[in-house]
Amino acid sequence: ALALTGCSSSGGRGGDAGASESAAAGFAADATIGVALPDKTSENWVLAGNLFENGLKDAGFKGDVQYAPASNTVAEQQNQISAMITNGAKVIVIGAKDGKQLGTQLQQAADAGVKIIAYDRLIENTPNVDYYVAFDNFKVGELQGQALLDGLEARSGHAAPWNIELFSGSPDDANSAVFFNGAMKVLQPKIDDGTLVVKSGQTDIQQTATQGWKAENAQSRMDSLLTANYTSATIDGVLSPNDTLARAIITSVKQAGKDISTFTVTGQDSEVESVKSIMAGEQYSTINKDTSLLVEQTIKMIGQLQKGEEVDVNDTEQYDNGVKVVPAYLLPPVIVTKENAAEAYANNPTLLDIVKAAQ
Ligand code: BGC
Repeated sequence: ALALTGCSSSGGRGGDAGASESAAAGFAADATIGVALPDKTSENWVLAGNLFENGLKDAGFKGDVQYAPASNTVAEQQNQISAMITNGAKVIVIGAKDGKQLGTQLQQAADAGVKIIAYDRLIENTPNVDYYVAFDNFKVGELQGQALLDGLEARSGHAAPWNIELFSGSPDDANSAVFFNGAMKVLQPKIDDGTLVVKSGQTDIQQTATQGWKAENAQSRMDSLLTANYTSATIDGVLSPNDTLARAIITSVKQAGKDISTFTVTGQDSEVESVKSIMAGEQYSTINKDTSLLVEQTIKMIGQLQKGEEVDVNDTEQYDNGVKVVPAYLLPPVIVTKENAAEAYANNPTLLDIVKAAQ
């Protein structure tokens, strides 16, 4: 069972506080709740926006859901958050575009008594982030690292050593390093003992980064890696931090005339096109981070803040944002390959249909 830990920064009252006191610590049951999401580059952000719209309405709140636009995103997200504060939001849920650049806005929020929940991505270098709600990002990385090893074993058609390359996410997203570190916990010992060979030698996070989580950046880096290192050598696999990048990497490998059926690439997010690719035997794995559960948990936390109750958290150690350890509620991610896809998507009719149609 998860330990429910109270949070001193919540400003709320503990469970044993008097009812009137608790009510006093909360806010109106029909308050405005802001939701600031980064972009639409991954399906999960689009889904989250829709789920917040409906879920907040069902919970009796007025939802104000905004996306940072495709250009000038950081400044626009800053403006959106300031406007939410000015317009009287009581809680703002933030999927940060750049988690290091919201200090001014979050100070403004703290001054106005607005609670901040970092959603999916940690917000860094500010004391003014009250809670973090996410899937366990380090675990995501570990699962990806292990899936890469499993896929190499199952698909490459030969014993170790295996030639691999490494990709990480956007440097402005705090998750990128956590995913990468989780994966490297599994992969680094195998690189050290010669099971895995990174022919390019590019093994640190700066070298492997994918600016903006953009598919075209991953594809062009993969093109360059193939040209420089694999004209005669075989590329057996790639660590990819998400599905969008995995498909870009597959495109590059295909265009280079390489065999996809013996190649392993990991992913994350269970995007529709990637689930199809997995069922077709191309992409090897993805991660199921059920967005509906994450949004549900977030709305539950907002409900607790509204009532002035203690907010459920289950981790008070892992997410140090540079100024403080942000109390977090972490959900467990699930690794998905062709083998367990039907089971993993049992509660997701769209993905289950894709799996069944391919079986
Ligand atoms: C999310 C991933 C997503 C990536 C790109 C990360 O912060 O955790 O699920 O693939 O952003 O949108």
